[in-house]
Amino acid sequence: MGGPDSGCARVRLLVLGGSTEATELVRALNAPVAEVAVILSYAGRTKTRLPPPPGVEVRVGGFGGINGLEDYLRFNAISAVIDATHPFAARMPFNATEACHAVDVPLVRVVRKTWVPEPGDRWIHVATVDEAAQAVQGLSAQRVLLTIGRQELRAFAQCDANFVARSIDLPEPGVLPGATILLARAPFTVDGELDVLRDHHIDLIVSKNAGGSATSAKLVAARHLGIQVVMIARPAAPPGETVELVEDAVAWVARNFGGEA
Ligand code: NAP
Repeated sequence: MGGPDSGCARVRLLVLGGSTEATELVRALNAPVAEVAVILSYAGRTKTRLPPPPGVEVRVGGFGGINGLEDYLRFNAISAVIDATHPFAARMPFNATEACHAVDVPLVRVVRKTWVPEPGDRWIHVATVDEAAQAVQGLSAQRVLLTIGRQELRAFAQCDANFVARSIDLPEPGVLPGATILLARAPFTVDGELDVLRDHHIDLIVSKNAGGSATSAKLVAARHLGIQVVMIARPAAPPGETVELVEDAVAWVARNFGGEA
C-alpha cells in the first residue's frame, strides 16, 4: 500500500506483475502518499519471489479468468490496472483488456521494446517454442543453452542435442532428461555470459525475444563468440494503450489520478 493510511486510499492501483518493470514500477509508485494504494499481483509460478517494497500489498494466484478478474476489480474498488506482465505472458493481457473494459476501469500495459539483431548477430527467427525445438534439431547443435525459463522445456525432450537450461527455480523432475540445470536470476553481465558459454561449450542459444537490458548480455556474448541464437518471437498482444518504460507508466498514473503518484 502507498502509506500507513492507505486502507482508505483514494486511488487503488492493481499492478499485474511478472516482469522486471513490475518490480521497478511498484517501487516507483510506492511513494509515501496515503491517497495511493498499490496491489501487486503474481501468477505464482516463481517460487523464489523478490520481497516487495514495504507497504505494497501482494496477492498471488490467478483470478479465475476474465469473470474472476472482473469480480476482483469490483470487490476491491480498483481504480486502474497496470499490466506489467512479461512480454511472453500470452493470456493475462487479453484477460485484463476484457475485464477492464467490462467494468470500465482504465488499463495500460507496460511492454518493453523487442530486441533487434545487430551486425554480427546470427539469429534464426521462429514463432513458437515448438518451432525453436524443430530448429534446434535441424541445426544439429551439440550443446544448447536454453534461456526460456522452466515451464516449456519439455518441447526439447525429443531433440538429440545436450542441453544446459537456465531458470530461476528448478524445473519439474524429468521434463528434460539429462539437461544440466543452471539456477540463476537476471541481471546477467557480458563477462558472466561469456564464461557460461565457454565453460559449457555452448554452440547454440535458444532465447525468447524478451527485450530489455537484464537478459541481453547473452546476445552480446553470442555475437562475440559467433554463436547462433534461435530467437522466439513474442505472442500476439491485445490492442490498447501501452507504454515502454516504467517512468511512462508512472506519468500515466499521474495524468489519470493527479500529480502525487
Ligand atoms: P499467461 O499465459 O498470460 O497467464 C496464464 C494465467 O496465469 C492467466 O490466465 C492468469 O490466471 C494467471 N496470471 C498470469 N499473470 C498473472 C498475474 N500477474 N497475476 C495473477 N494471475 C496471473 O502467463 P504465463 O506465460 O503463464 O506466465 C505466468 C506469469 O509469469 C505471468 O505473470 C508472466 O508475467 C510471468 N512470466 C512469464 C514468462 C513467459 O515466458 N511466459 C516469463 C517471465 C515471467 P487466471 O486466468 O486464473 O486469472
